[in-house]
Amino acid sequence: MAKGKKTLTGSFGCPLGNDLNTWTAGPRGPALMQDVHLLEKLAHFDRERIPERVVHAKGAGAYGYFEVTADVTKYTKAAFLSKVGKRTEVFARFSTVGGSKGSADAERDPRGFALKFYTEQGNYDMTGNNTPVFFIRDPLKFPDFIHTQKRNPATNLKDPTMAWDFWSLTPESIHQVTILFSDRGTPAGFRHMNGYSSHTYKWYNAKGDYYWVKYHFKTDQGIRNLTGPEAAEMCGRDPDHATRDLHEAIARKDYPSWTLEMQILSPEQAEDFAWDIFDITKVWPHKEAPPITIGKLVLNRNPENYFAEVEQAAFNPSNLVPGIGVSPDKMLQGRLFSYHDTHLHRLGPNYHLIPVNRPKKAPENSYQRDGSMRVDDNGKGGPNYWPNSFGGPEPDGVSLEPGIPLEGEAARHVFGHKNDDYVQAGNLYRRVMSDQDRTNLVSNIVGNMGEVPRPIQLRQCAIFYLADKDYGARVASGLGLDLGKVKKLAAMTQEQRVAATPLK
Ligand code: NDP
Repeated sequence: MAKGKKTLTGSFGCPLGNDLNTWTAGPRGPALMQDVHLLEKLAHFDRERIPERVVHAKGAGAYGYFEVTADVTKYTKAAFLSKVGKRTEVFARFSTVGGSKGSADAERDPRGFALKFYTEQGNYDMTGNNTPVFFIRDPLKFPDFIHTQKRNPATNLKDPTMAWDFWSLTPESIHQVTILFSDRGTPAGFRHMNGYSSHTYKWYNAKGDYYWVKYHFKTDQGIRNLTGPEAAEMCGRDPDHATRDLHEAIARKDYPSWTLEMQILSPEQAEDFAWDIFDITKVWPHKEAPPITIGKLVLNRNPENYFAEVEQAAFNPSNLVPGIGVSPDKMLQGRLFSYHDTHLHRLGPNYHLIPVNRPKKAPENSYQRDGSMRVDDNGKGGPNYWPNSFGGPEPDGVSLEPGIPLEGEAARHVFGHKNDDYVQAGNLYRRVMSDQDRTNLVSNIVGNMGEVPRPIQLRQCAIFYLADKDYGARVASGLGLDLGKVKKLAAMTQEQRVAATPLK
C-alpha cells in the first residue's frame, strides 16, 4: 500500500483485502453467504435513509457566529447577549416547508430560517421563517394545513384545490397567503431573504423584569426574489439552486450576513397595543414598535458532511436559555411539543448526543439515561435520580423565569377577535408593495388558482376583496369571475359565505 494511505476496514475496524469482487462458488457461480463484508455493506446501505422531516425536508446548512452590537442587558440576562462584541458559534439551516427531500429549492413556499446558538448556558434555538406571520394561529389546525401543502391522497399530485379550499375556509390565512404569492414566496436564494421569529417570545433581565420581543434577521445581501416564471424555469434548470448558492458563496469566502433587529414591548406597552401580540397572523407595525439593531449573524463555514451535520440537525423552539422564554402564542405552544416529538421519531431518544445537536460550550448534566443509540458514557456510575445525596447535578436559581399573569376560563376558545384579519394584508398590498409587486402577486395567484373549482375561487376572491378592493377585483378579473358575485360574498359573514359557495 502507498505510504500515508489508510487501510480500508469494515465497520468494526478489521482490515479488508478486497472491495471489488464478491466471494462466489467458482468464477461464474452464485455468491456465498460467507462474504460477510458484502452482507455488512448491503445491510448498511439498505438502512441509509432515515425518515425525512414531515415539514422542512429539503434544506441547506452552514456554521458561523452571532455578534452582539448593542447593550441589551436591560431586557435579557442571556449570557450570550451580555456584552457588546461577544461572539457565539451558530449553526443555521434554511429550508422549504412542504416539499419532500428531492424537491426544488425554487418552489413557492415559505422558507425555514432555523438557528442554533451554542451558548455557554446550553443551546438556544430560534426556529423562524422568512415571513413575519403564519397561515394559522391555532396548532390544532397545523396537521390539516400541512396536508394541503403535500400531495393529494388519491392522485399523489400536488393539488392547489386542497390549498385554496383550506385557505378560503380559514380567512386568518390571508396575510401569509399574500406574502407567499408575492415574489417573496420564491426567494432568489437563502442569502437574499430575511429571517423572522414570527412568534412573540419573552426576554427577562437579571432583576426579573420581562418584555415581549420579536426577532427580525434582515439580510445584508439585500432582498432578491425570482418572479413566477423565473422560479418555474429555475425548478427545471437547477432544483438545488439555493443550496448551491449558499455553499458556493461560503466556499469563495463571500460570507453572508444578517443584521438582527428586535421589536421589544414592555408588558405595559403590550397591554395598550393596537394588535394582539400573540396572534402570529399579525405583525407589530414598525411605527408602533420600532425595531432596534442589536447584533449580526455571519455564516462562514460549510459543513463537511451533509448527512451528519445538516440532515441530522434538530432544532427545537423549546431549547431556551436563562433570559429567554416563550409566550402564550398558541402556535408556539404547539411547536414546543411537536419539534421534540418529531425528532424523537426521526432520530431517536438520544438525538441530543449527535455532534451537531450537542451543546458545545456547556456540559450536559441531566438524569436522562439509556435508550437506543446511547453513545456517550450514559452518566457512568453517577446517581440517576434527583434529589440524591451523592453529589449529582443540582437545579440552579439562575434558570428561574418570572411568571406572567393569566386569567380566564379554560376552554376551547375561538381566537379572540381583537383585530380585523384583513387589514394588515391590505396594508401590505396598498402601502408596501410596488405596482410591479402587485402585478406579480395577482399573476402568481391567478396562475395557481386556474384549475380550482369556481365556488372556491369565488369564496377566496371575496377574502382578497375584503383585504383590498383592487386586490380582489384584479384576481377576480384574472380568473374571469363575476365581480358582482364577489362583492356580494364579501358583504356576508364567513359562515354565510361558506354556505353560499357549496361544491356541487
Ligand atoms: P413598514 O413600511 O414600516 O414595514 C414594511 C415591511 O415590509 C418592511 O419590513 C419590509 O421589509 C417589508 N416588505 C417590503 N416589501 C414586502 C413584500 N413585498 N412582502 C412582504 N414584506 C415586504 O410597515 P408596517 O410595519 O406598518 O407593516 C406594513 C405591512 O408590511 C404589514 O402588514 C406586513 O404585511 C408587512 N411587513 C411588516 C413587518 C413588520 O414587522 N412590521 C415585517 C415584514 C413585512 P424589508 O425592509 O426587508 O424590505
